[in-house]
Amino acid sequence: MQQGIARLAGLIARSRRIVAFTGAGISTESGIPDFRSPGGIWDRYPAVTYQEFLASEEARRRYWVRSRETYPVVAVAQPNPAHRALVALERSGRLLAVITQNVDRLHQRAGHCPERVIEVHGHAQTVLCLQCAARYPRDEVQRWLVAGTEIPACLDCGGLLKSATVSFGEPMPREAMDQARAAARAADLVLVVGSSLAVFPAGYIPIYGQEAGAALAIVNRTPTPLDVRADLVVQGWAGEILPPAVELALDGMG
Ligand code: NAD
Repeated sequence: MQQGIARLAGLIARSRRIVAFTGAGISTESGIPDFRSPGGIWDRYPAVTYQEFLASEEARRRYWVRSRETYPVVAVAQPNPAHRALVALERSGRLLAVITQNVDRLHQRAGHCPERVIEVHGHAQTVLCLQCAARYPRDEVQRWLVAGTEIPACLDCGGLLKSATVSFGEPMPREAMDQARAAARAADLVLVVGSSLAVFPAGYIPIYGQEAGAALAIVNRTPTPLDVRADLVVQGWAGEILPPAVELALDGMG
């Protein structure tokens, strides 16, 4: 792994327009389980697709049970050293953007300029009415759930409420996807951190970057489908790999 860290530091030091592409794996060391690892969220709560959510009351009930149980973990989680390493990269002037599939807002809370964080799957702090677009703070909806509401409804119009996160089968937020594609295509290094790269269309984003000429580095605990086309793969914990790699790269540039 030491060799991988040194090679990653070299790649970072040679790059001027880095785009990080992050997934649930960057936040596991903050205590938020990912989806696909053993003991991950799917082991406990199978996914509810957007279509199931719209069509079935039973699916909405399951959606909100899972949300009620998982949200408190997200609400108290704190950024970890891997999040902070990306902030250090931004402060060095070499990070164009962080494109994240995460909904936990830990990149922003770690100290990035909010404009540099592109959330392609939305975020968990807001709940939206699918009918009239009213917005509710997630903390408020959590209080309703804890008080016994099984399927919350909009106070204004009675419409269906859903977290401002993208479910399977739900259209992607167009503006965020356009920004993500543009950032990836402007990058000279796409740095994937903690993503199985198995969720699409977000999983194409590193490929857009590579096709436009960026190098591709992947930091992940387990193999990904893009490892074969990456310039560098470092397997292990993001919190153990990114901080020393970024420090080494920035020291070298000092
Ligand atoms: P995923 O669960 O499919 O994959 C996570 C990957 O990270 C796995 O390959 C795993 O081996 C790796 N990993 C786990 N811990 C790691 C660590 N400490 N260091 C390095 N690698 C680590 O997650 P995904 O690719 O992001 O896609 C699934 C979807 O999950 C995304 O759409 C995302 O919105 C959602 N999600 C988000 C959160 C969050 O916001 N924190 C949590 C769970 C799921």
